[in-house]
Amino acid sequence: MSYAIESHDFAARDFIGGDAALDFVNTVSGRDESPRDWLDSYTRLLEWTTLVRLLPERNLRALTRKMHDEPGAAGRALMRAKELREELFALVSAIVAGDAPPKSALTTLREHWLAGIDAHELRFENGQVIADIRADASDFDLISAMVAYRMVEHVLTQPPDRLRMCGGTNCAWVFLDSSKAGRRRWCDMAVCGNVAKAQRFYARSRRRSGARS
Ligand SMILES: [Zn+2]
Repeated sequence: MSYAIESHDFAARDFIGGDAALDFVNTVSGRDESPRDWLDSYTRLLEWTTLVRLLPERNLRALTRKMHDEPGAAGRALMRAKELREELFALVSAIVAGDAPPKSALTTLREHWLAGIDAHELRFENGQVIADIRADASDFDLISAMVAYRMVEHVLTQPPDRLRMCGGTNCAWVFLDSSKAGRRRWCDMAVCGNVAKAQRFYARSRRRSGARS
């Protein structure tokens, strides 16, 4: 699947998923209407990774260096990351709809998740065992691996009814509803919520004026 690529400067408002794995899925906006893909290069993917704090500084530096040496390989890794992203969207939208996710989504997720586990080391520190990203982990696919790792360990461990898709038009962003009441419907009330409210108001006032005539 390929979408219209759009240059985009990521900012805080783009991270509403509640977890980096879902924010990664949301690097395509408007899947329900006119999808825009905001990952126009591996550089952009690194920029996104930095902003969501998916990787430690040292791994980011190693990936940046490697990208300058091997731009072709970085580009291919970006394509694999996008394949994972589309499978994750299929997975999340199936869960949201109460359906079984496609097999290919689980297969792809598992592949990257295993790479994510492999990118970790276990250390004993201050009386406890800590799982940490290996200092020497610098595969181009490390970003996909960590997205998949977070998806399995942090997102899919949440109650499935807390996984949501924004009800706005030309959005289709996904998020974890961590509100107390569990009734979050919008990616951002100020963005999609208000548009929907305005549309409802417009429909209502039209009905009203229709009744008068
Ligand atoms: Zn929205």
